[in-house]
Amino acid sequence: MATVIKEVELSWLDRTYLWPILKGMVITFKHFIRQLFTPTSKRYTVQYPDAKKEMPAGYRGLHELKRFEDGSIKCVACFMCAEACPARCITIEAEEFSDLNQTQGFEEKRPKVFKIDMLRCIYCGYCEEACPKDAIWLRTDYELSAYDRLEMQFGKWDLMNTYAKKDGKPEISTDPKPAVPHKPVEM
Ligand code: SF4
Ligand code: SF4
Repeated sequence: MATVIKEVELSWLDRTYLWPILKGMVITFKHFIRQLFTPTSKRYTVQYPDAKKEMPAGYRGLHELKRFEDGSIKCVACFMCAEACPARCITIEAEEFSDLNQTQGFEEKRPKVFKIDMLRCIYCGYCEEACPKDAIWLRTDYELSAYDRLEMQFGKWDLMNTYAKKDGKPEISTDPKPAVPHKPVEM
């Protein structure tokens, strides 16, 4: 639907441009004074990094590669996320995975290499949406810094451990060995 935009007639005072600037300064000053007399708990400003904002559940922060209860990776190296990624920052190398003793028993592939270049990522969440295994999530952490560009290349284990501390899980750096022998899935 077309929108009619009304032309605004500027008064001679407005045309000096000093009056609008003055009006803007008054508004800014009013906000400044109001903030000074507002209790800290009610202010909009977050005193970062002393105080940190808790992001909502749908926030698209740092990625996590999900794992099963036994620690084995959920990802099956299908490349759907890499295909969906508009920034082309996901690198995957697949490997065969025939150890049927692990949780899902019937998966045949997993990523040998899974890398995200966090400097190129635009946190759009397309990878999460494209994943058929619910294996990659963008969660609530947003702090990320490094002295070196290479440190911003997050590998498979970095991505599996991103939220380990927060979730009270142990950090892992190798594929877990199965404790219980696998029983074939009954059809
Ligand atoms: S959030 Fe977007 S840019 Fe980042 S890895 Fe996923 S698809 Fe690529
Ligand atoms: S994270 Fe999901 S979409 Fe990406 S390769 Fe693994 S299973 Fe496929």
